Amino acid sequence: MSKIDLKGKNSKLIHGALNKTHFREQSESLFLTSGFVYQSAEQAEAIFKGDETGFQYTRYANPTIDTFEKRMALIDGSESCFATASGMAAVFGSMMCQLQAGDHVVSATALFGSCREIIKNIITRYGIKVSFVDGKNIKSWEKEIKSNTKIFFFETPSNPCLELVDMEAVCKLAKKNNIKVIVDNILVSPVLQNPSKFGADIIVYSGTKHIDGQGRTMGGAILSSEKFREEILKPFLRHTGPCISPFNAWVLSKGLETVHLRVVEQSKTTEKMVEFLSEHNKVDSVNYPFKKNHAQYELAKKQQKMGGNVLSFYIKGEKKEAFNFLNNLKMIDICNNLGDTKSLAIHPATTTHRILTDEERSDQNICDNLVRLSVGLEDFEDIKNDLDQALSSI
Ligand SMILES: *Cc1c(COP(=O)(O)O)cnc(C)c1O
Repeated sequence: MSKIDLKGKNSKLIHGALNKTHFREQSESLFLTSGFVYQSAEQAEAIFKGDETGFQYTRYANPTIDTFEKRMALIDGSESCFATASGMAAVFGSMMCQLQAGDHVVSATALFGSCREIIKNIITRYGIKVSFVDGKNIKSWEKEIKSNTKIFFFETPSNPCLELVDMEAVCKLAKKNNIKVIVDNILVSPVLQNPSKFGADIIVYSGTKHIDGQGRTMGGAILSSEKFREEILKPFLRHTGPCISPFNAWVLSKGLETVHLRVVEQSKTTEKMVEFLSEHNKVDSVNYPFKKNHAQYELAKKQQKMGGNVLSFYIKGEKKEAFNFLNNLKMIDICNNLGDTKSLAIHPATTTHRILTDEERSDQNICDNLVRLSVGLEDFEDIKNDLDQALSSI
């Protein structure tokens, strides 16, 4: 069959990087194999030396994983991708591949619990120094730069309070000082935000969230330039082994075929839910930068195509009222996943951000009356009714 040059991103995400076999299968093939065989000892030598290209071992590369990586690069707008077993493997690998004892990392304070744990308590065990800054304030990034600063790290929007970092400003400052910027772009997904456009060097994802979006598999990805992938990332990840299973990569490739539709639809429902919750008499306030009266609305509009499907809100009351609300929910599940087709709610202070100290939680406004909601693909009326009955019967 002759080929046509596909122009649209959706068409490319559906037809791109297929790696079809001689069996002429219609769907993406799934190579559940750990190894690949060689026609001769000479060929094995040539492939190991790099004189000939070819798959060797799934910890290094695999055709099914290759399809997922190429599609991720396409949707993110970066040159290349290395897939990992989880989002956290992507966060950790993206840092450790380029750091050594004596280096310094600057990170925004507002972080997902496990990201915070890696930066505060794990990499610091290896002679790496760390400073935390208020990500919203460009001056605070500038103030922490030292001669040994190698990495800026942040999430935008942050989990769970949705604080934004001005990517263009922070990346410009980093370039001037020869610092690499790693952005955790998990919360709004590659559908709604492409950090490479604003100068980010490395972008990390959890495939577990919107990319699968149906609660089935773990997975992650590190996006970067081809040069960074080949020279820094690949040698580190090949040998340390946080590789993704081909089966999970296959599930995620199929997820990428529908992620645009899902995220846009979920975002539309979420914007309506923000209005509904903001006016509810049991709700104190809602965190969602993509709404007109929010202090970071202009920045949100500049960086994101839409607001995304995650919001958080403060219930009038304390922990007891927040727990009551969660326990009253009938359709919405209590679950710490996000980006799923099913609506999910969680109490961050006692779960995803439990590991933080009281002071760290209060710095990030993760109060005991805060609930995070990931809006699913159910009908607006049903989600709204469940929230309403659960709030009203607190
Ligand atoms: C979920 C999440 C991660 C970790 O991804 P996993 O796939 O669960 O390892 C990292 N950062 C943020 C912001 C997340 O929401």
